[in-house]
Amino acid sequence: MRFLNLLSLSIFIISLSSCHGSDKPERMTYPAPNQVKITDQMWSQILERTRSVTIPDVLNKFEGRTQNAPNTLHNFELVAEGHVADGGHFGFPWYDGLIYEAITGISDYLLQYPDPAIEQRLDEYINLIAAAQKADPDGYINTYTTLMENDHRWGENGGNLRWQHDVYNSGCLVEAGVHYYKATGKTQLLEVATRLANYMYDYMAGANHNVVPGHALPEDALIQLYKLYKSEPSLADKLSVPVEAENYLCLAEFWIEQRGHTEGRRALKAYAQDAESVFDAKTIEGHAVRATLFATGVADIALVKNDERYCAAAHRLWDNMVGQRMFITGGVGAIHEDEKFGPDYFLPTDAYLETCAAIGAGLFSWRMHELTGEAKYMDVLERIIFNSIPTAVSLDGTNYTYQNPLNAEKMNRWPWHECPCCPPMLLKFTGMLPSMIYALSGADIYVNLFIGSKATLQVPDIGEIEISQQVDWNTGKVNIQVRSPKTKKLCLHVRIPGWENGQELPYGLYQSDLTNTEAHETGYITFKNPQDEIELTLNVAPRIVKADERVEQLRGLCSLASGPFVYCAEKIDNPDVWDNLNLAERQYELDVEHPILGITPLRSTDSQITAIPFYMIANRCKDTAYRVWAK
Ligand SMILES: [Zn+2]
Repeated sequence: MRFLNLLSLSIFIISLSSCHGSDKPERMTYPAPNQVKITDQMWSQILERTRSVTIPDVLNKFEGRTQNAPNTLHNFELVAEGHVADGGHFGFPWYDGLIYEAITGISDYLLQYPDPAIEQRLDEYINLIAAAQKADPDGYINTYTTLMENDHRWGENGGNLRWQHDVYNSGCLVEAGVHYYKATGKTQLLEVATRLANYMYDYMAGANHNVVPGHALPEDALIQLYKLYKSEPSLADKLSVPVEAENYLCLAEFWIEQRGHTEGRRALKAYAQDAESVFDAKTIEGHAVRATLFATGVADIALVKNDERYCAAAHRLWDNMVGQRMFITGGVGAIHEDEKFGPDYFLPTDAYLETCAAIGAGLFSWRMHELTGEAKYMDVLERIIFNSIPTAVSLDGTNYTYQNPLNAEKMNRWPWHECPCCPPMLLKFTGMLPSMIYALSGADIYVNLFIGSKATLQVPDIGEIEISQQVDWNTGKVNIQVRSPKTKKLCLHVRIPGWENGQELPYGLYQSDLTNTEAHETGYITFKNPQDEIELTLNVAPRIVKADERVEQLRGLCSLASGPFVYCAEKIDNPDVWDNLNLAERQYELDVEHPILGITPLRSTDSQITAIPFYMIANRCKDTAYRVWAK
């Protein structure tokens, strides 16, 4: 057994390039979700709760069983029965898309935790969806448009694409088809999706007819469809619809390139990334969920086509988002009106911060990591994963957040929302979480996230390797084991997070006074020929975080953090000092002995302040008052 303690061993730190033999690493690949088993104390509980409680809860609520909410599946039944323009649609126009997003997320859970009852339930949904598509000779399917304004397909003839969500819903269907096929091997939904993709290609890109998504996501979805057929050419033989993989890529490109070119259609403006071409855009603008998903699509095409224009655009958007517009929890979207990004350095404590926007920022950051192999993208993904993601659902797994302000006087979770977009996005993101922990690039293995887990990876020329890690955030100890038939050629790269060196986000929007020992440089450190066991100790000492002086709203304020967790003080724990927190004037320690809600709180050594990780907010009382930022 060999123990390497990074605090004292700097000789193992060699540059990334020496392993690759070139400056640019080969393309990253990530294991499928079922190749990585999460064993983490925190995350295995969250995933198990999601699987056993949140998934049935979301389906029950979409079916209108437990809330006074419409049964959104009824819309498909009506369309399948031949109803047209009879005004009978229930709920918002984008409900179709939300059901499809739930199928996408649940599919990735099914891949990891087979569940015949849930699978059968989804099969029934899929039968309904397929029946609704059959009602239209072209394969068009959008229950709102068909039932409410059938003359306005794709928002045309005086319709309103921004409201109708036709292309958005269709993109969600494509994504669900891909994920459900990967989870179950069943092709029914994939066939529905492919028929619709063919129709959209013929109607839009193929005919140079200027229709674009009013809500981004279809760009990324069509690339997923393209990649699936490229990786499994024989799959086309199993379907009774033609498969034209290149068309799906072309359609995604068309949607991106037509943004800012509004000839022949209603302009969607900055709200939907339509005010200018992305190749001219210097900042990330508009509705934050749309903007981040749009940017994800741009990064997708940069990856697939190796196109410099797309690459440069993706970098500009990400750098602006992280350098000037991201919140300390990894959330984005400062402004309530239009749920949009604010100007640079506008980061108020009561910002809007929709759950879905943080998820979009996470997906975008993950794609940027795939594009570049750089650790800073994982720094941001980690911040989102440990702060914005688990916040979105209550400890009982059935109450959710939509907005996630950093300070609030009366925060309440809701059992269901009239726009229930966040729970399906949450299922989708957490279903993919196991894939984000490790990456492969040739014989280089990357440990991107510190989440207790065990993975089996196929490494070219080496064979099957096993990698596992245990993480203890109370001590900062990370233990990594590698089992490989031929360790000689292997390189292991372990990410040292920016927060360990006081850099809370790349480009310095938030900083702490934490400095590290000589051995830790931010970025990946590399172990050549790793054997047995690597132990590192990350500096999880509680730290005080401050924002860049240019952030007017946060001047004179500070927040608390330890490891990847942003902390917050709830009034319930601090009633006596609520008006006088004086966060910066105290010393803190992790109080392992006295957990709150089962997690380790931060306590000031004068016993005056108790803070819990932000993701635990609003679990103990109604109208929770809490503060991330305080004097
Ligand atoms: Zn949402």
